[in-house]
Amino acid sequence: MKLAEQAFNELFPGKNLEEYEFQVKYTDRFKPYNANVRYRRNSLQFNLSRKWRAISKEIQIGLIQGLMLRVFKEKNNTMNIDLYNNFMKNLHISVQKTNTDPILEKSFDRINEKYFFGLMERPNLVWHHSIRRLGSYEYGSDTISISRVLLEDSDLMDYVIYHEMLHKKFKFNSSNGRTCHHTKEFKEMERKFENSMEMEERLKRIGRKRNRLFGFF
Ligand SMILES: [Zn+2]
Repeated sequence: MKLAEQAFNELFPGKNLEEYEFQVKYTDRFKPYNANVRYRRNSLQFNLSRKWRAISKEIQIGLIQGLMLRVFKEKNNTMNIDLYNNFMKNLHISVQKTNTDPILEKSFDRINEKYFFGLMERPNLVWHHSIRRLGSYEYGSDTISISRVLLEDSDLMDYVIYHEMLHKKFKFNSSNGRTCHHTKEFKEMERKFENSMEMEERLKRIGRKRNRLFGFF
């Protein structure tokens, strides 16, 4: 049986497979290990980053099942979804760290010493030009990306990098197909940043809503 069909059957034993059409495509358009799904009428097209092709079928099934839960707005859990989540959480181990930048590296090292006992492994560190998204952390490439607008305020830059480092530390919690990135323990540790209240004020003064500041994460 093909990948998506098998994923569907195991996730929804009560649903009729015959009512749907499935397609899985591997593409170069995505960043490593990203994926999405297009749902039209009864047809589901899964687009997976080409990196997925080499990954075990069991893990790919978990990825596809997670996308199916989103499309059908259902909650469920499977062994494959657990395998997928564990895979994503451990990807950073095998990702090459080839991208870096002296300013970001200094900031990272500063925060690593102060808040993580110097124990956090350095991820890829890059700049981006978006001003809407101040920072992001990407699991698939183990990359923290920081907006160049933060060059004007190194304290705030440290705070945003700290936020992204917390994503690398805590990863995400997942249950029944729902994923939470900003967990209670995440928020508690975020508040431990020196002057975190003032940093929050500065973020507000930049004039953007908190939930948009960090983009996806
Ligand atoms: Zn975040």
